[in-house]
Amino acid sequence: MLKKLLGGTTQEVHQVISNISAGNLSSNIAVNPYIKNSVMFGLVELQAVLLANHVERTQSARILQNNLARLQAMFETHAIAIVIIDKSNKIEAFNFASEELFGYTRAEVLGCNVNILMPEPYHSEHDGYIDHYVKTGQKKIIGIGREVVGKRKNGTTFAMQLLVGDQGYGEEACYIGFIQDITERKCLEANSKLYELMVKNSDDAIITKNLDGTITSWNPSAQALFGYRAEEIIGQSVYKLLPTDCYDEEAAVRTVVSQKKSVRQLETVRLHKNGSLLNVSITLSPIVDETDTVIGISKVVRDIHELKQSLAEIQTLVFYDQLTRLPNRHLLLERLKTALPLSEQNQQYGAVLYLDIDKFKAFNDSQGHAAGDKLLVEITARLQSCVRETETVARLGADEFVVLLESLGTEALEASNIVAHVAEQIRITLSAPYTINDFLYHGSSSIGVYLFLGRMDSVDEVIKRADIAMYQAKSSGRNCVRFYDAVLQKQTDAYEALRLDIYQAVDEQQFQLYYQIQTDKYSHPIGAEALIRWQHPKRGMINPTEFIPVAESNDIIIKIGYWVLDNACLQIAAWSHDVLTRDLVLAVNVSGKEFNQPEFIEIVTSLIKKHGINPSRLKLELTESVALNNFEQAILKLTALNIVVGIKLSLDDFGTGYSSLSYLKKLPIHQIKIDQSFIRDMDTDLNSLDTKMLKTIIDMAHNFDLDVIAEGVETEIQLALLKQLGCMSYQGYLFSKPVPIEAFEALLKNR
Ligand code: C2E
Ligand code: MG
Ligand code: MG
Repeated sequence: MLKKLLGGTTQEVHQVISNISAGNLSSNIAVNPYIKNSVMFGLVELQAVLLANHVERTQSARILQNNLARLQAMFETHAIAIVIIDKSNKIEAFNFASEELFGYTRAEVLGCNVNILMPEPYHSEHDGYIDHYVKTGQKKIIGIGREVVGKRKNGTTFAMQLLVGDQGYGEEACYIGFIQDITERKCLEANSKLYELMVKNSDDAIITKNLDGTITSWNPSAQALFGYRAEEIIGQSVYKLLPTDCYDEEAAVRTVVSQKKSVRQLETVRLHKNGSLLNVSITLSPIVDETDTVIGISKVVRDIHELKQSLAEIQTLVFYDQLTRLPNRHLLLERLKTALPLSEQNQQYGAVLYLDIDKFKAFNDSQGHAAGDKLLVEITARLQSCVRETETVARLGADEFVVLLESLGTEALEASNIVAHVAEQIRITLSAPYTINDFLYHGSSSIGVYLFLGRMDSVDEVIKRADIAMYQAKSSGRNCVRFYDAVLQKQTDAYEALRLDIYQAVDEQQFQLYYQIQTDKYSHPIGAEALIRWQHPKRGMINPTEFIPVAESNDIIIKIGYWVLDNACLQIAAWSHDVLTRDLVLAVNVSGKEFNQPEFIEIVTSLIKKHGINPSRLKLELTESVALNNFEQAILKLTALNIVVGIKLSLDDFGTGYSSLSYLKKLPIHQIKIDQSFIRDMDTDLNSLDTKMLKTIIDMAHNFDLDVIAEGVETEIQLALLKQLGCMSYQGYLFSKPVPIEAFEALLKNR
């Protein structure tokens, strides 16, 4: 191959040398410096050798031979693929690097058209170039570096840098192609273009700087954010963007450089060109060179002004009351969560004042919601004027406010004095007249106070206790301050526990009926009163005075009442078969809620039917207040129960209520039951006031044709006196306490 390149004769060698010397080939190799260097290196070597040959023309053929061998070796081992073709495009030489690059062996390609190494459309283009050059001598590709596409034996293509040189004339002409795979470089170029595009189009400001703080790059978003154009700021110090007293970036840079890791989302402020402050979040990352040395810092700066604003808005929505702008329940609880441990740590008392605006609902309903809102805003302002700015005034609900006072000292007495003073101040301030829409309003507030120390109570407990105290203030007549009372709390807790247990008691049938005998003036049994008992699984036997009022405050009394009536009727039915008991009348207590049910008469009737009893053996005991509540309705119901159903009616606890003659006349009842308080207080003196009252009641009953029974008869003296006064029937411990059915029946038998 080299023989052809250099020519077999000295003359031809000269020609080659002169071509090379004239820069025929090397002077045009300017595109790829690597190729240029490689080619130049080869050619310069070649030149040197040839020159040496020329100068030392006389030297032996062996030296020439050696040099040719060296050139041959160079060709073979050159890192660049070198392909030589003849004037008809046939491959004449194909070095080792070419074999590596194209995947062909030399034997496979020698003599083949060079098109084999290129995909379409390079095939036809290439043929055209050579033809054109041979015919016109005009160089289109020769001597010019180009980026084209090569094709491997396996059909895959790759980007390559091609430099073509020509050599020789006429039949001896050949073309030498120097080829380099530039796939990697192309990839890098594409990546860096992509990166450039990303930086250019990023919504975030992307800035790079040297370690000395000099700005080195600046994308369009940086311009939009800071107001500087790239040409104004590149080369300037980054301190131009920092407010004077801001040193956070220095610290972040130190971390980035020393630990070679990013500092993420540093929330800070930066300076706009016009001097205004920008809320930004900055991520700083190290720029490292190939030796892993940090040579600069890249900064991604994000404008968080809007984000901050939205966050602030969300905060306001979540933690503040929209009308008064006061902290809401949520924020109050948060503050209490901090206040309790702090109080424990400092051993300082704190207090919660729970305020309710008296009769706010009435004001709202009569004056309208807009006026109600105005009143609340005015109340807020007054409340705030009573406490220090650092103290929390929160709005919990419509007309409920809480004031949290902290650091009230280490002494309970001192703390409660301070709180009492503040609470009183608030009460007075809130009770001054308000002018709302030209309407003069006299409002007031009920304030409950709870003093706390440390974490003895939970946050919820603290609020709850202040709330209980507030209710106490309300029930004490409003417009006053009440401190939380532990005794009251115990009662509340017990009430609550009992209320929950009653439901279970009904489901699990934990009730029982006791019977207390009633006698006539000859001490003969005439009947009994059925009195309920609750066999509580943990607390044992509970008397009705404890649980009936609880049941009466809930509708559960209706279920209990039904159970009692049902069981009383069952007992009357059982007694009806025995001579000893068949004439007994069983009295059952009926609660207001029970009696007021629209279907009460139906219930009683159906139970009488269900048990097949004589209705005259059943007596219902109602208190005065039950009978008088909705008096007209009561008369109708009682008349139906008496005349239609045929049961007896007794007015229980007589004398404790209104005891008015006028209504007594109208009520269709059989009996009045004198309350035991009269019996307890009676004495032996027939002229005492109590005795006179008793006599009046008994006489009145006689006048109305009513039976009279005295309850709570405990002594023979009481009995004797009652007999003397004309009382006809008796009930009391003197005869028997209320007892279970077995004991009651035994009592009857033993009389
Ligand atoms: P009440 O109807 O006035 O019942 C009389 C109460 O006086 C009973 O108390 C009875 O044990 C008590 N007592 C009777 N004789 C004497 C006596 O000589 N001395 C003293 N100190 N007390 C006497 P109890 O059983 O505790 O019932 C209390 C109240 O609970 C009843 O008063 C009644 O209002 C209510 N109650 C009882 N059972 C029922 C029921 O089944 N349904 C409803 N709604 N209320 C009931
Ligand atoms: Mg009774
Ligand atoms: Mg009674």
